[in-house]
Amino acid sequence: MEENQVLTTLKILIIGESGVGKSSLLLRFTDDTFDPEQAATIGVDFKVKTLSVDGNKAKLAIWDTAGQERFRTLTPSYYRGAQGVILVYDVSSKQSFTKLDAWLSELETFATKHEIVKMLVGNKIDKDKREVSRDEGLKFARKHHMLFIEASAKTKEGVQCAFEELVEKIIQTPGLWET
Ligand code: GDP
Ligand code: MG
Repeated sequence: MEENQVLTTLKILIIGESGVGKSSLLLRFTDDTFDPEQAATIGVDFKVKTLSVDGNKAKLAIWDTAGQERFRTLTPSYYRGAQGVILVYDVSSKQSFTKLDAWLSELETFATKHEIVKMLVGNKIDKDKREVSRDEGLKFARKHHMLFIEASAKTKEGVQCAFEELVEKIIQTPGLWET
């Protein structure tokens, strides 16, 4: 099958509590690296990566926070026009999981596209410590009509899949892809 000639740009957001691994997931996806020393201080506006899904080529502009999420001071412009969002919690931190509701309501307040596709990612599954079961994550995702995957930015597990499945769903959603 011939690939799409038009390169559609999608705005993807990564949100969630500070320290859950948002920047690490992004770095693993875009550069295939993991740096336990530096990850915590990395703050970029966004990174760009081209992804082919089902013969469609999409240019992803993935927005990370530079630490503003710590004070819940992400501005409306951060959310504006996004087609997809990755909401991250840390499976070794119940606290990061219980904050998901607050993140979803902030998203609802500021997202300008009603059909925005949501992916819930339970990160850090490589750790021995676990406070949130896979089942709890799955239940939360189903309740809020989100895609769900468990992942590890450290070992790579689930990272590529998280982005691919999100983009696949965006492509299938009328009004998001044909912009
Ligand atoms: P952010 O604040 O959400 O952007 O989180 P960071 O990406 O800065 O990560 C916070 C800390 O968690 C850093 O020390 C990372 O090295 C660590 N971390 C991130 N992802 C993982 C993971 O999948 N497994 C483990 N064991 N540690 C991780
Ligand atoms: Mg970060």
